[in-house]
Amino acid sequence: MNLSERDNKIIWHPFTQAKTAGRVIPIKRASGAYIYDENDKRYLDLISSWWVNIHGHGNKRIAESIYEQSMKLEHVIFAGFTHEPAVKLCEGLQKILPDSLCKFFFSDNGSTAVEVAIKMAYQYWKNVGKSEKKIFLSFDGGYHGDTFGAMAVGAKSGFHDQFKDLFFTVLSVPYPDTWGGDDEVAEKELNAIKVLEEYLDQYGDNIAAIVLEPLIQGASGMRIARPEFIRKVIDIVRSFGILVIFDEVMTGFGRTGTFFALEQIGITPDFLCLSKGITGGFLPLALTVTTLDIYNAFLGNDFKVAFAHGHSYTANPIACAAAVTSLELLLEAKDSIDTINSLHVDGLDLLRSVVTRTRSIGTIAAFDVRQDIIPHLKIRFLDAGLLLRPLGSTIYLLPPYCISDDDLKQAYRTIFEIVDTTLSRA
Ligand SMILES: *Cc1c(COP(=O)(O)O)cnc(C)c1O
Repeated sequence: MNLSERDNKIIWHPFTQAKTAGRVIPIKRASGAYIYDENDKRYLDLISSWWVNIHGHGNKRIAESIYEQSMKLEHVIFAGFTHEPAVKLCEGLQKILPDSLCKFFFSDNGSTAVEVAIKMAYQYWKNVGKSEKKIFLSFDGGYHGDTFGAMAVGAKSGFHDQFKDLFFTVLSVPYPDTWGGDDEVAEKELNAIKVLEEYLDQYGDNIAAIVLEPLIQGASGMRIARPEFIRKVIDIVRSFGILVIFDEVMTGFGRTGTFFALEQIGITPDFLCLSKGITGGFLPLALTVTTLDIYNAFLGNDFKVAFAHGHSYTANPIACAAAVTSLELLLEAKDSIDTINSLHVDGLDLLRSVVTRTRSIGTIAAFDVRQDIIPHLKIRFLDAGLLLRPLGSTIYLLPPYCISDDDLKQAYRTIFEIVDTTLSRA
């Protein structure tokens, strides 16, 4: 049996309908922006392997920091103990975050980072004697992960309908996504604000927090909202004392052109959730960053007011060491990030005659195509050596920052040819 057949016999893959999915592709190695299958066919990883490999594959500096840390200290319980890589990582992040985001809580992935923020927000209100605040606000299309709390606040992502009977109460606001040449955006924003205000009139005193992906929703199709809209929403909810959770699991670490999307909105949330790019795609790790105000509300003589949450691998030193190096690389990547942004703008121009709703922000570009050609495109992209994973009728490019100018330009030319010929055959 080959690897693909052995896999098929024993493994259950994520987000996959195994009955209809094609065969999985065994990957043998990866380097820079490319992954290589067992026949040495290479694929340009235009989605940074589910958005994590911000510096590309096989980065030597990250690999070496992992090796060195493994030889010193691979793991230690993080309750009652600490270590250099964890502290150093948080100190480094604090330098590029707003001053008031100064308390860092570790967990393992994006879902747990959100789970932690939701639990902290809920318990914060309990600890300060306002236990009536237990409803959450979020946006239609918001995706926050696959654990129960994260699924509940992402109820309108459409991914988790099978579980919705078990969710806690979440009020969902329409999301005014927009693109180049959209002339209805102002109207969509007004409608969203109207719905939000109705919720607040009725439930304002019972809402604990709002959870959102700032600037761009990832999983629901790279849907961009205008920063002034997000700013308005936050101003309104804050006037009701509602806490603000920014889920920057996807947008963090340079994706939107700035270190974090919050910089472009000009808002400091009460909680910031980080994961995906944090270790450059080498190891799972996450952080929930919050303020001294929140932290202080959990101090007391009784354990009951403490935050009873922790994972076996909390702040794993090897993952933290990878993250420290990934952060150093990020500080050096500013020019590459700017270049990718301008290549996206040119690339989308090239595609404009065969696709719709072109949009880009920082290192993320997206466009829509006719839904019926998606299955054909998927196969043709792979044949052409492009790793792209459409979301519904949306195709997006979210490349690692190390991608070469020529590779990205060529990718756009190939995409144009494939979409063009597929449309003329369909
Ligand atoms: C991917 C993602 C998550 C979930 O992260 P996992 O590591 O897959 O659990 C949460 N929020 C956003 C915005 C994401 O893109």
